[in-house]
Amino acid sequence: MSSRILIVEDEVQLARLMELELDHEGYAVKVSHNGREALELLKEEEFDLVLLDIMLPEMDGIEVCGRLRKFSDIPVIMVTAKDAVPEKVEALDTGADDYITKPFAIEELLARIRALLRRKEREKREDNNVLLIADLEIDTDKYKVKRADQEVELTKKEFDLLVYLVENQGIVLSREDILSNIWGYDYLGETNIVDVYIRYLRSKIDDPFEQKLIKTVRGVGYVIRDDQE
Ligand code: CA
Repeated sequence: MSSRILIVEDEVQLARLMELELDHEGYAVKVSHNGREALELLKEEEFDLVLLDIMLPEMDGIEVCGRLRKFSDIPVIMVTAKDAVPEKVEALDTGADDYITKPFAIEELLARIRALLRRKEREKREDNNVLLIADLEIDTDKYKVKRADQEVELTKKEFDLLVYLVENQGIVLSREDILSNIWGYDYLGETNIVDVYIRYLRSKIDDPFEQKLIKTVRGVGYVIRDDQE
């Protein structure tokens, strides 16, 4: 589903330009030219992000943001008219997540929107007990794993192993660490069981995909890492 963005901007031409660009990017866009009206819209409708100009008729952007924060934590990007540092500080203090200074390149605005939406999505998932690395998601409440939005079926042991790796992402884990954490200190079976399970796990979460997440550290053990981050 496309994200809904509210543009609050009283310069009609600029608002129209932003609307066209965001619409072209696939966002669902609504425009308001007035601070007070924008605040009403934000009370009545669901949006995923607000682009909020500071200089607005009836109620300025700072005040809109301050009042908005009393009932919503929706992502806000403030649009400041000039390179005015106190204004930016005030915007951030009022609870804006980011700001951009006019005149701006539309590409920069789009990049900031994407970054902020990604950050909020990540925060939301973390709240829901979802572990993330690259395009891999583990829902530890529902025991579900997805890579690139495709569901991956894992056995209980494979799941536990993956969770352990991802909870320690970037940290090299020895076979002994893995063995004692997943199989228990009293495990008496084959010690190459870790390698066997890493192979099972790779065949499901790495082999079908271009980016490999599980790395072998020779002579030590394994690490899961997103090299593209
Ligand atoms: Ca304005």
